[in-house]
Amino acid sequence: MTPKIRNFKPDLIIAIGGGGFIPARMLRTCLKELGEPTIRIYAIILSLYEDLNTISTTAEKPGVHVNRVQWIDYDQSGVDLINKNILIVDEVDDTRKTLHYALSELEKDLHKQCQEKGGDPNNTKFGIFVCHNKLKPKKEQLPDYIMNEDRYFTKNVPDSWICYPWESNDILFHQKMCEKQGNDL
Ligand code: 5GP
Repeated sequence: MTPKIRNFKPDLIIAIGGGGFIPARMLRTCLKELGEPTIRIYAIILSLYEDLNTISTTAEKPGVHVNRVQWIDYDQSGVDLINKNILIVDEVDDTRKTLHYALSELEKDLHKQCQEKGGDPNNTKFGIFVCHNKLKPKKEQLPDYIMNEDRYFTKNVPDSWICYPWESNDILFHQKMCEKQGNDL
């Protein structure tokens, strides 16, 4: 997968925490080019919560919304999104709500920055990396320019719960179970 992301040439990585932190850090090493600066990682933290006041999408479940816990401090970090290739990283695309929220909010930030500082939003390219995409009906869609232009980097997997190694208290046991299941996680 890294050759395809290498072609995308991210200028910065935005990791969605907590699941995207370790994949983002590993990707940074994989993408490091000799003589090129190390790609900066910025963190955002999002969580899904159930809104009991919204109309249910299914008979039993209340609406599920994305809650913004932490966002990029553009002033403090001095970073902007203008004229960049930006890779958004998370561990898994499940309902797609988190990725959709992250991308649409970052696009809003980009447009605001272009208005304030001058710049063309079309000169920024967003890409998405997730370790796994669960093959299932999604609750949100990502724009065609992500899906059709080779800017969505992932491995498609069946819809079942994935236990990531960084969630394990006993990594040797985790590895043993992976091997038993024939998985490469
Ligand atoms: P979404 O439904 O918005 O695509 O995913 C929300 C979040 O749920 C993900 O970022 C991830 O933290 C968590 N999640 C969804 N499916 C799994 C899974 O199979 N394993 C783990 N560990 N987390 C998951």
